[in-house]
Amino acid sequence: MSKKINVDQHEINKFEALASRWWDKQGDFKPLHDINPLRANWVDQETPVSGKTLLDIGCGGGIFSESMKIRGAKVIGIDMGVAPLSVAKMHALETNLEIDYLQCTAEELATQKPDSFDLVCCLEMLEHVPDPRAIIEACASLTKRGGTIYLSTINRNIKAFLFAIIGAEHILRMLPIGTHQYAKLIKPSELAHWARLSDLIIERIVGMTYNPVTGIYKLTDKDLSVNYLMKLSKPL
Ligand code: SAH
Repeated sequence: MSKKINVDQHEINKFEALASRWWDKQGDFKPLHDINPLRANWVDQETPVSGKTLLDIGCGGGIFSESMKIRGAKVIGIDMGVAPLSVAKMHALETNLEIDYLQCTAEELATQKPDSFDLVCCLEMLEHVPDPRAIIEACASLTKRGGTIYLSTINRNIKAFLFAIIGAEHILRMLPIGTHQYAKLIKPSELAHWARLSDLIIERIVGMTYNPVTGIYKLTDKDLSVNYLMKLSKPL
């Protein structure tokens, strides 16, 4: 595994600057609030999380971490942003949820806690790091044998460019301009290739569609063209 630090400080700064608005359901993070019930229910249906240890990599202000804790998981959230982590800690206190939040990279934690978690989730973060393949390798290492990994990111093609960047940032203003860079988006085939290189098994891939007229998000097996989630397992 590469020893150089796999963090893009410019990306972290973007999230630091927005952190105080993390829990504003109508604000800059509205899309994360809107998709969270869908992804949280999907994860919990696929791998009932109650009683399981779950690591949330790139947890930000804790939207997904909290929803997993509410469903009964024992959650650790890690992020490299100081402000998002403070917001996450504060919000967990307010909502009376016991979650451990740490400032740490996935790679660092992997050296300290290999084969430790029933579930490792890394959602909407891979497209913000210099070397996403190294994150997948760290996920593989952190997961217990027989455990499960969930990843989500944005596909790279002309439709994803039009919907996720031009539409969501420039036209609908759902996300701040500059949130996503086209070259850093990741094709499902690339993610699948990295997963196989880390000896992981691809269990399922689902797409997430957004209808700008109704404002409704849906999960679908048929359309991976923009947002998608991948479920992987680590062999016993
Ligand atoms: N996973 C959360 C937040 C996604 S926003 C959710 O889906 O609700 C992306 C988060 O990744 C930000 O909080 C940012 O600070 C964090 N991040 C970016 N690069 C990182 C890295 N290399 N290691 C850890 N966290 C990182």
